[in-house]
Amino acid sequence: MKLKSLKTKILLILSAVIVGVAMSVTSFTIAHDKQQEDIRMDEAYRSVHLNYLQTLQDTVSFYTARSHANLSTVGVLEAFRTANHDELYRLIAPRWKVMQQENPALAVMQFHNGDGTSLLRMHRPDVYGDRIAEQRPMIAHIHKYHKALYGFEEGRQGLAFRIVVPVMENGVYLGAVEFGLSASYITDKINRYTGYNSFFLVNQNNIGNLSSVDNGIKIGDMIALNVSAPLLPLVRMYQTVSMSEENLIIRSGGQSFVFKSILVADYDNHPIGKVMFVRMIPDFWSHSLQMALMAGFIALVLIIVLGILISRLYDSIANKLSFQEMYNQTILDAIPSPIIVTDGHQIIAANQTFLAYFDYDTIEHFKREHNCVCEYFEKGDTDDYLLPMMNDQRWTEYINNHPLIDHKAKITIDGKTTVFDVKLSLLRFKEESRYVVIFTDISSMQSISMTDPLTSIANRLHFTMVYEHAINVARREENPLSVIFFDIDHFKQVNDRYGHLIGDTVLKQIAHLAKQRLRKSDIIARWGGEEFIILLPDTTLVETVHIAEILRSVIANEELDTVGYMSCSFGVAQLNENESADEFLKRVDDLLYQAKHHGRNRVVH
Ligand code: GH3
Ligand code: MG
Ligand code: MG
Repeated sequence: MKLKSLKTKILLILSAVIVGVAMSVTSFTIAHDKQQEDIRMDEAYRSVHLNYLQTLQDTVSFYTARSHANLSTVGVLEAFRTANHDELYRLIAPRWKVMQQENPALAVMQFHNGDGTSLLRMHRPDVYGDRIAEQRPMIAHIHKYHKALYGFEEGRQGLAFRIVVPVMENGVYLGAVEFGLSASYITDKINRYTGYNSFFLVNQNNIGNLSSVDNGIKIGDMIALNVSAPLLPLVRMYQTVSMSEENLIIRSGGQSFVFKSILVADYDNHPIGKVMFVRMIPDFWSHSLQMALMAGFIALVLIIVLGILISRLYDSIANKLSFQEMYNQTILDAIPSPIIVTDGHQIIAANQTFLAYFDYDTIEHFKREHNCVCEYFEKGDTDDYLLPMMNDQRWTEYINNHPLIDHKAKITIDGKTTVFDVKLSLLRFKEESRYVVIFTDISSMQSISMTDPLTSIANRLHFTMVYEHAINVARREENPLSVIFFDIDHFKQVNDRYGHLIGDTVLKQIAHLAKQRLRKSDIIARWGGEEFIILLPDTTLVETVHIAEILRSVIANEELDTVGYMSCSFGVAQLNENESADEFLKRVDDLLYQAKHHGRNRVVH
C-alpha cells in the first residue's frame, strides 16, 4: 500500500517535471523564434527599403544619362535653342522608339522651353506650345532653380515617377527634358528583387485628376493604386484595419501577410502616400501552436513510456519485497520459540509460536490489547528476571547493554508459569534500530537443575541463587530475613538398620512434612544428605523460632512408615545488618551444631 502511493507520487512528480521542462523549452523556443522572426522581418524591411531607394537612384541615373545622350545628338541642342518643334521631333523620334522598346513603362518624354511653354511631347507630338509650367509645379521649379528633380506625381495614366533634367548650353539654361514612367515600374523591380508584392497608397488630396483612375481602391482618405490581382482580397481587408501601423500583419485563408510601408514623396520631398510592400509569412502563431502540440505530444509519450518503465520497476521491487517479507516470516515461523521484532517501542513482527503462546490470531490483534510483551513479565526469585523497566532503561535496551547476563522472563498464561531465556540481537540500519528478541522456554531445564530429584524440593544450587537475591532485597527494603537449618538425628542408624531405600523414604517424608508447614514465600531446600535449609523472607527471629518449633514438633510426633518416630535438630538465626551471606550461614550452622550438642530434637537460636 505504502509502496503503491510512493509509485503514484513519483509518477506525478515525474510528469510535472516533464510537463514543466516541455513547457519551458517550448516557450523559450517560441520566444526565440519570435525574436528571430522579428529580426528577419526588420532585415527584410531594411532590404526592401534600400532596394526602393537604389531603384529610384538607378532609374534617375539611367534617364539622366539618356537625356544627355539625346541632347548630344548633332542638331538637337540647336533645335532646342531655336524651339524648332518639328526638327526636334525628327531627330529624337528614332531614339524615342528604341527607348520605349527598352522600357515599356516609359510613358512620357517631353521637352520644356525655359519660358514655361511645352516644346515637344514625344508621346503626343501634336500638342505643344501650351503654358505647362503654370499647371506643373515641378516644371516651374526646375525653370526657377535649374536643378534635376525627380518624384512621384499623378498623370493621365495613373501615378507616375517623373525625372526632369535641366538642359544647359555654355552655362545658359535652355529648358528641361522630362521622363515619365508608370509607378509600377519601380515596384515591379523591387518585387522582382525582394519577393515582395506591392501597391501604392496615395493621399486623396494629393491625387488631383487621379480620382478618375479606374483601378483605384478607396481606403479611407487614401486610394490604393496598382494593386495586383492576388493582392486584391487582402487590400480589401486592409480597409478595415488601421493603416497607421508600421508592421501590420493580416491573416487570410490560414496564412499571414505582413504589410510594410515606405513613404513616397513628390519632387519637393513632400509625402504624397506610401508604397505598401506585402509578403506572405509563415503564420507565427499557428507555427507556435504546432510546436506546442508537438512538445505536448512528446511529453505525453515520455510520460507514458517512463510511467510504464517505473511501474514495471516498482512492481518487480514490490514482488521482491513481498517475497523477502514472506521469506523472513517463514524463517521466523519455523523457529519453535516465540520471537518478536521490535523497534524498542512497539512490536513490528512476531512468529507463529509467539502468537500461539499468547493465544492471538494476528500481531495486530495482540497490539490492540497490549503495548508491550513486557506487560506479561513477572518478578522472579532471582535478579536476572526481566521487568518492563530495568535500572531506568527499557528492557530491550537493558538486555542490549548487559550482554553477559543470561536474562530470564517469567510469564504466566492461564495459570501456567513459563520461564524464558531471553536473547536479543540488535540490527541497526541508518537511523532505524530493530531488536530481534528470542524467548527460549527453559522452565523444564530450570526445574531439573534447580530441584532435588529425591525430595522434589529445591536443591542447594537453587537455594544459593535465591539466597543472595533474598539478602539483597531484605537489605534494600529493610525487611528481616531468617534462616532455619535442620538435620535429621541419628539418620545413619536408619540406613544401617533398614537400608538406604528406607532412608530415602524417610528423607522424602520429612521434607514433605516441613514443606507443608511453610508459607509460599519461604524456600526450603535440601542442603545435602539429611540436612535441610529454609529461607524465610520478611520473618523475624521470634517468628522463625516459633515456626522451627512447630516443625520440630510436627516431625517428632509423626509416626513414619517402618522406622517409627524420628527427630531433627534446628539452628535458627535472623540476618544481622553487617553480616555477609557466608557469615550468616556459618552462624546458623554453628547453632545447629549446638542443638546436636545439647541433646538433639531441639531448636537453638
Ligand atoms: P547426627 O544425629 O549427629 O546427625 O547423626 P547422624 O547419623 O544423622 O549423622 P551422620 O553425619 O553420622 O550420618 C548421616 C548419614 O546420612 C550418613 C549417610 O549415609 C546418610 N545419607 C546421606 N545422604 C543420604 C541419602 O541420600 N539417602 C540415604 N538413605 N542416606 C543418606
Ligand atoms: Mg544427622
Ligand atoms: Mg548430618
